[in-house]
Order: sequence, then C-alpha cells, then structure tokens
Amino acid sequence: MSDRVDVVVIGSGYGGSAVAARVAPHGRTIVLERGRVWRPGDFPSHLPGLAGAYHTRRNPLGLWGMRLGEGTGNAYVSGVGGASLVNYGITQAPEDHVFDDWPLSREALAPYYARALEVLRPAPSPLADALGDKDFLDHVEPGRRVDLVNTIDWERCTHCGLCVPGCNVSAKRSLDVTYLAIAKSHGAEIRAEREVVAIDPDGDGWRVVVRQTGRGRSDADEVIPARHVVLAAGTFGTLDLLHRQRDRLSTTAWFGRAMTMNGDGLAFLYNTSHPLSGHHGAPITTSVHLPFIDPSGRERTLNVMSGRIPKVAMRFSALVLGLFGGALGRRRGPRDPATARARRRLLDLLRTDPEGALAHTFMYKLDAEDSSGGRAVFDAEGRSALAWPGYQDDPIVRFAAGRLEAWAARVGGVLVPDVSGLPGMRSFGVHPLGGVRMGRGPEDGVVDPAGRLLRPDGGVYPGLRVADASIIPSSLGVPSSLTVAALGERVGEDLANELRAAA
Ligand SMILES: Cc1cc2nc3c(=O)[nH]c(=O)nc-3n(C[C@H](O)[C@H](O)[C@H](O)COP(=O)(O)OP(=O)(O)OC[C@H]3O[C@@H](n4cnc5c(N)ncnc54)[C@H](O)[C@@H]3O)c2cc1C
Repeated sequence: MSDRVDVVVIGSGYGGSAVAARVAPHGRTIVLERGRVWRPGDFPSHLPGLAGAYHTRRNPLGLWGMRLGEGTGNAYVSGVGGASLVNYGITQAPEDHVFDDWPLSREALAPYYARALEVLRPAPSPLADALGDKDFLDHVEPGRRVDLVNTIDWERCTHCGLCVPGCNVSAKRSLDVTYLAIAKSHGAEIRAEREVVAIDPDGDGWRVVVRQTGRGRSDADEVIPARHVVLAAGTFGTLDLLHRQRDRLSTTAWFGRAMTMNGDGLAFLYNTSHPLSGHHGAPITTSVHLPFIDPSGRERTLNVMSGRIPKVAMRFSALVLGLFGGALGRRRGPRDPATARARRRLLDLLRTDPEGALAHTFMYKLDAEDSSGGRAVFDAEGRSALAWPGYQDDPIVRFAAGRLEAWAARVGGVLVPDVSGLPGMRSFGVHPLGGVRMGRGPEDGVVDPAGRLLRPDGGVYPGLRVADASIIPSSLGVPSSLTVAALGERVGEDLANELRAAA
C-alpha cells in the first residue's frame, strides 16, 4: 500500500475545507468533491437558470437541491466550496449556554472559533445603515438589535443582490478563496466532479470508492487507498454514506437522531407602512435577539433576522405576493391610506420599484435554538432527509411566530405566515444539523469530541473521522457556518497531530 494517500477528505464545505487546510502541511491530502468548480460568471442570475441548476441524478453537476422529509424541506449545495458558494456568509458564534450539553466547553472551542474567524474575515456591510432594516427592528423591538457581519469583500461588492445563488463578481470570501486556497498552497489536491460512493475498511486503512460525476464520466469506479478518511459531505451527504455502509460500519444508537432545523423559518410582512428597501437584494445585515425560556426553564437563543429577497427571485416574489399575498395571509394593524397601498402594489406588479410594495416588506428569517427533535429518514435509494412533523409547534418557533403577529399590529401590512401550514407545504430550512452528533461516548453520541466515528461498544474506527454540520450536537440558534468551520479546525488539528506523531 505504498501509494496510499495520507488523508482523503470527502466534501469541500466548511468542515472539509478547514480540515484540509490544517492537515495538508503534514501529509498527502486529497479533497474529493462531487460538484463542479463554479467561477465568477457561472452562477445563475435569473429564475430559469436557477431551475436549470437543480441537482438531480440526471444533472449531477447541479448547484443546489432540496431534501424533503415529513414537515420540513432543506436546501443543500453541491460544488467546490459547498454552501459557501451560495450563502450570505453571515458569520456568528453561538451564545455561551448553547455549549452546556456539548462534550466540548465554550472555552475549549474558543481558539478554533478564533482561527476560523482569522481565515474567513467577515465584515459589516457599508450599506447596512441605509437599508431601513435597523430602523424597522429598533421600532418593533427597541434595544434588542444585533448587527451582523458577512464573509464578503465589500470593496469588490457591487451590491447587485445576487449573493444567493452565487457571486458573479468575485466579492465573496467563499471557501474556494479562503480555506481551500490555504490547503492548495500546502500541496492538497482538490478533485472536483468526484462522488464518493463507498468507504470500505482495508487493513489499517480505507478504500475510498469514487465515481466521476462530470465530463469523462465512466462506469468504472476509481479506488483510492487512504490511511485516514474525513467524512465532510454535509449533513445529508454524510448521513447517506454512513447509511449505505451500515453493514460494514455499525454506528451507535444515536445515528440519525437529535437533528435540528436550527429554528429556521421564513415569513413576510408584505406592504407595511414602514420603508425597508426590500427590493434591494443586499445581503442580510441585522437581527434582533429576543429572550426566551423554554418549558423546562432553560434559556434559548431566538434570533430574528431582517431577511432579504435575493434579486434572482425578486420579480417572482413581487408577483406572488402582489397577486396572492391577500389570499395567503391576513392584513394587520394600522393601515396606510388604501390608495398608497394600492399604488405600491401596482408599481411592483409592473416592475420592481424603490417606491413599491416590496420596498415596504419585512422578510422574517428565524434562526432559533429549537429542541433538536428531528430525525433522519431514508428513501428507497438511501437518500436522507430530515423529518420533524411537529416542527411548527416547537415552543420557540411558535413564540417567534407570535412576535411577528405583534410586530404586524404595530406596522401593518399583510402577514404571510410560514407556508408550512398550507397543504403539501413544509417548513423551509438551510441549516439542517446533527444526525451524527458529537458526544462523550456511545451513550450520547455517534462521534467522539475529536470527530472519530464511534463503535456501539465505545471503541473508535481508526482513521475515520467526521467533520461537518452533521456532528453538531444541538441547535445553535445562529447561522451554522462558523461553528462547522471551528469544529473542522479542531478535527483537523487532532488529525495533524496524529500524522506528525506517526511521521
Ligand atoms: C442557501 C443557504 C444559505 C445559507 N446561509 C448561511 C449564512 O449566511 N451563514 C451561515 O453561517 N450559514 C449559512 N448556511 C448554512 C451553511 O452554509 C452550512 O451550515 C454549511 O455550509 C455546512 O457546511 P458542511 O461542511 O457541513 O457542508 P456543505 O457546505 O454542505 O458542503 C458539503 C459538500 O460535500 C459534497 N458532497 C456531498 N456528498 C458527497 C460525496 N458522496 N462525495 C463527494 N462530495 C460530496 C457536497 O457536494 C458539498 O459541496 C446557508 C446554507 C444555504 C443552503
């Protein structure tokens, strides 16, 4: 096995990229990513393009997809850089109490958060004060505003509103230009369009079975022998692979349990009396943190962001909300003169207008510390999804929805609630976490604090680690990318130490 690679990292999201950057100086490292390289100019900028970039078996190089489980639907991303390609790069660390039940304390993780911040370097938007979101939140929840930072190079940003589904002007500090660039500078190979279909134990190492997804696709699978494998395929990718390997790699009873939506929720307060620049498409820049004590008396994070409709969906949103907003929601609170409301609506139906209804619309984007009551389900082809039938009744989600009602009473507008109440609809999320949770041992985890996969008897599989959003032990209540990167930093450091010791 002399041609054995030291480390194979599966997936190039926040966890995999951070691991690759830290282990590459200590051994031959290959990152395998099923998606393609996306360059500035490649990202879709209109709805048909976005639809064409949907990831399916027939379109294996698609940029994004959805996994639908009972009660929830979660978006995922496929490409070199994982979800950093399409996200707003909001970068936030969880509050201290979140770590109370984790096997690693806040203090133990602090250096890894600091390292991740050094690499990702988020900064506040220079436009934030002008957008109206801050005024709105100060009006409805005085004194509770928390402003946000994004991993965006604001000097390059043209404020075009197309961060989602991808920046065409190279203004994002996405993983391809941060962690993966560091990994490459230390000699790591990033192999795109390579999907790992199996990881088999092989003596004191692993056989990683790889299928080409893009051009040059062949029926013959390639096998890469490796000493260490790091599974970082994102929550669903990692669940899929471990489920497929269940006959060879038995996991603890926690596999697929304690999954969280991270309190994700989406609703609109359409055509309010308050100007908000909702037509602008700039990234999310501010939020309010509200106090919430759950039924067991524990403090939980409740974070409502002033969301932003991406430019790519602006016309669509203007038409749907303008034509059907009244049917989907109910008008609340103080009314502007009917003529002013009608004028704004009409303007938006004709074109997206700075005076129009969307420019007076609050997009409620909830990130909250839910009770992590979801579980993984697998379809006939072994593809995972997050199922949580009663998600909308989780106490914090209900409480937050009640707050939106109170805001509506103050600023008016049509309250279009989370669509999950409609027949066939689900709660929409972008932060599916957990399922391979990190614990102290098999009694509360699937991996140990170093990310090593646990056997049911408490031993570990040598050379097999997990480092992505699936190992997060509980809901964070804030966007997840920074925490995934910090955990990747820690798993990477642990593996680098092992490589150094072996050398
Ligand atoms: C639309 C959207 C907006 C978001 N906005 C924010 C935000 O503003 N701030 C924030 O903090 N978080 C945000 N998030 C969440 C955040 O991006 C994720 O939590 C984070 O990307 C998770 O990192 P990860 O390492 O687990 O995996 P991912 O980033 O999901 O990457 C996993 C990678 O593995 C690859 N892969 C999967 N299976 C295989 C396989 N078998 N073989 C090879 N490769 C494979 C995938 O193609 C993918 O590229 C957003 C997410 C989405 C979808």
